[in-house]
Amino acid sequence: MAASNAQIVEELRWKKFPLLNDGFVCLVDCMGDDEALVQAARVSYGDGTRPVSDNRTLIRYLLRHRHTTPFEMAEIKFLVRVPMDTWRQWIRHRTASVNEYSTRYSLAIDSMVTTPPDEWRTQATTNRQGSGDYLPAEQGAALTQSEAKFQQSARDLYQSRIDAGIAREQARKDLPLCTYTEAYWKIDLHNLLHFLMLRMESHAQLEIRQYATVMGEEIVSKLFPLTWEAFKDYIMDSIQLTRLDSQVIQRIAATGKSPVTVDEFLALGDPSWQGLQRCRERDECLEKLQFLGLVEK
Ligand SMILES: Cc1cc2nc3c(=O)[nH]c(=O)nc-3n(C[C@H](O)[C@H](O)[C@H](O)COP(=O)(O)OP(=O)(O)OC[C@H]3O[C@@H](n4cnc5c(N)ncnc54)[C@H](O)[C@@H]3O)c2cc1C
Repeated sequence: MAASNAQIVEELRWKKFPLLNDGFVCLVDCMGDDEALVQAARVSYGDGTRPVSDNRTLIRYLLRHRHTTPFEMAEIKFLVRVPMDTWRQWIRHRTASVNEYSTRYSLAIDSMVTTPPDEWRTQATTNRQGSGDYLPAEQGAALTQSEAKFQQSARDLYQSRIDAGIAREQARKDLPLCTYTEAYWKIDLHNLLHFLMLRMESHAQLEIRQYATVMGEEIVSKLFPLTWEAFKDYIMDSIQLTRLDSQVIQRIAATGKSPVTVDEFLALGDPSWQGLQRCRERDECLEKLQFLGLVEK
């Protein structure tokens, strides 16, 4: 027999999923399950209990058509330990309720995110925000060594101020962004899916992507299996076609040839793309059409 939602919550509660060198995410509490979302949705038309297969159909319909309020009926509370630079991205999601560890009140957490020699990433050449390839570990070793030295000296400086009786709120000001913080983070399922959509996506920074992926795959998928399935099908693993994309596809279909070459794709592209050296929208369209097998790779 499948485990009830209460059992799953009990199994997951306080279970720390480790991330980076000393981070984690764990479930603290959860209100609601797939059934509760369906129940809320059905109040609209006063419908009674329905078989589980109907629940799946309804949840998929709701998500496909962006009927979002039933997903706000569930709430999930996490405890996270995250380096400050990742937290800075995380905290931009304004729809959560947050309570963070206070370094005015308590000593700063004595832990910083470290980078193994084989995990230094080079600057991406195609995307100004992203990472490219990994640096060879032999080159990374020196960076890891200087990182350790810097982190130790930053911590020593902090500690020397504390020892000199300086207020914690001032002593902390030179702690680096790699210092871990902890927070309770509570959010409804609709906004959590929005967070996961943005932060599990390949353009998000690797570190926050790792957190989001664990939250999604290890926690949300178990608490809300029907919603998670629909989220993967309709949001995470789907592609969005713009009007321009659809018209390019129609023009490719009209040639009777598939896949077309990249040069043929360029010729069939939107008129506004013609003659442009660089065009991100065209590149995105090419990527989608290559994924669909309509353009040669
Ligand atoms: C890959 C990536 C790169 C990014 N790069 C940058 C960057 O370079 N610089 C930068 O500053 N940020 C950057 N961000 C942050 C981004 O712009 C958003 O601030 C962040 O992702 C939060 O998204 P959100 O506002 O949709 O989420 P939430 O704050 O969780 O809000 C959810 C939704 O609620 C609604 N909402 C919430 N608050 C308001 C409000 N006050 N008014 C109107 N509607 C509201 C909106 O519909 C919003 O989409 C980046 C994010 C990602 C994923």
